[in-house]
Amino acid sequence: MSDLNVVSISNARIPADPFVARHLIDGDWRSSTDGATFERVSPSHDAVVTVACRGNLLDVDAAISAARRAFDEGRWSATTGKDRATLLLKVADLIDRDRERIAFHETIESGKPISQAMAEIEGAADIWRYAASLARTLHGESHNSLGNDFLGLVLKEPVGVVSIITPWNFPFLIVSQKLPFALAAGCTAVIKPSEMTPATTVILGELLLEAGIPAGVANIVLGFGDPVGAALTTDKRVDMVTFTGSTAVGKAIVETAAGTLKKVSLELGGKNPQVIFPDAELDAAADAVVFGVYFNAGECCNSGSRIIVHEDIAEEFVARTVALSRLVPFGDPLDPSTKVGAIITPEHNNKIDTYVQEARATGASVPLGGKVLEVPGLRGQFYEPTVVTNVTGDMPIAREEVFGPVLSVLTFKTLDEAIALVNDADYGLSAGVWSENVHTCLEFARRAHAGTIWTNTWMDGFAELPFGGVKQSGQGRELGKYGLDEFLEAKTVTMRIGKNREPWVSG
Ligand code: NDP
Repeated sequence: MSDLNVVSISNARIPADPFVARHLIDGDWRSSTDGATFERVSPSHDAVVTVACRGNLLDVDAAISAARRAFDEGRWSATTGKDRATLLLKVADLIDRDRERIAFHETIESGKPISQAMAEIEGAADIWRYAASLARTLHGESHNSLGNDFLGLVLKEPVGVVSIITPWNFPFLIVSQKLPFALAAGCTAVIKPSEMTPATTVILGELLLEAGIPAGVANIVLGFGDPVGAALTTDKRVDMVTFTGSTAVGKAIVETAAGTLKKVSLELGGKNPQVIFPDAELDAAADAVVFGVYFNAGECCNSGSRIIVHEDIAEEFVARTVALSRLVPFGDPLDPSTKVGAIITPEHNNKIDTYVQEARATGASVPLGGKVLEVPGLRGQFYEPTVVTNVTGDMPIAREEVFGPVLSVLTFKTLDEAIALVNDADYGLSAGVWSENVHTCLEFARRAHAGTIWTNTWMDGFAELPFGGVKQSGQGRELGKYGLDEFLEAKTVTMRIGKNREPWVSG
């Protein structure tokens, strides 16, 4: 009998009729030109929850044409910041109105807990409001110290047509970290959600139309990376690609986008360390570690999947972490008490298990979990909360993204040793430090190679603060005013004052 906190099937039911998802192209809902569709089976409930149109190259071509036309005709880029802000605010209100519906579809497609999905949709509406506020701040620079004969202007203009390619782990939140900023800048877009989670992006499309977005400004093509995603990165009518997903696909996009030298913004994976010093508030640190590794079942680029604990407290800290882990409710995502739901696909569940078994076989210990989790009443795929100790820095489980509820524990003696372990990684998305000593925290913040540093907390995020990685965790930033800058180009205007230019030929 497991001593884990397992939530059996709840009373909430999957609708008999699946959600029908179609492409949004030039303001119309369309089927694929060849009529092809695909199904999404809920990872938790083993039922078809969505039937989506399966895009092909003709569908992509139609969507890019629509976005290009809308941009070139100035249907959106020529509007005022005030008008853009007004529309983005309307969308935020509509997201709030439909929060339960969006969260429900997010949960049954992705397997994430309904309470978490509700919080993410609320957070997404906040991001739309923040982006609306930025739409009214667009401005460049003026230079009036170039001499009496010159005035220089730097204009900020929208990049143009943007391809937005999103993953399955936070479908609504991630599209909301990209699209409202692109729209605030004046860009038009073609969006491709993951084939595993298309529904909530389609619902967002419905809300955009209801809010009055002009035809062609935001288009959605459903389908697979091949051919839909790939075509969105090669077409010369697209000016920029913004992508969130695996590092492997991110690298492929850099290559395919190079053919037309598109701007590319990438938010990729992470192997995010938290360093725990003996003087830390250990109860708070243990709780944050447990949250950091099990949140979204660990299927999170920001997952706190490795901790580096001072040798003097390692045994006690692991014991606390294991004890807390047993209390976390894993199970039916539709039960409001559940904190950790299902794993996205059976193949991914196997991949997680392979990492754990390989670590065990090469000398690591597994004091908690380490196998598939049985949830009474559900035939879907779940994985046990898992803690792996005796991990060394060279093991795949310490270096690669497991993307599951699996914590790797390493130890250190000195700050220098801890920093070396933190930075001995291909990734550099986020890193954390737990200590009551402000000097330790500041030194860590300056020396750790990561896009985000948390001190005495983990995974707090704000629309105002930029997010992104260094090294193989990506390039570019989302959120904050930097998130808007990604979608802007600088144009220089040099103006001569007076007709006083010396002739070059006859002068
Ligand atoms: P991918 O990177 O493969 O997918 C992300 C998105 O890119 C999906 O919409 C996908 O389409 C699309 N895509 C796939 N191939 C291409 C291509 N050649 N050109 C353009 N777009 C493409 O992630 P997976 O969903 O396969 O997940 C695999 C692993 O990636 C996970 O196990 C995890 O380690 C990591 N990951 C990291 C994420 C992060 O937030 N950093 C998010 C998701 C995954 P399609 O619909 O075909 O999948």
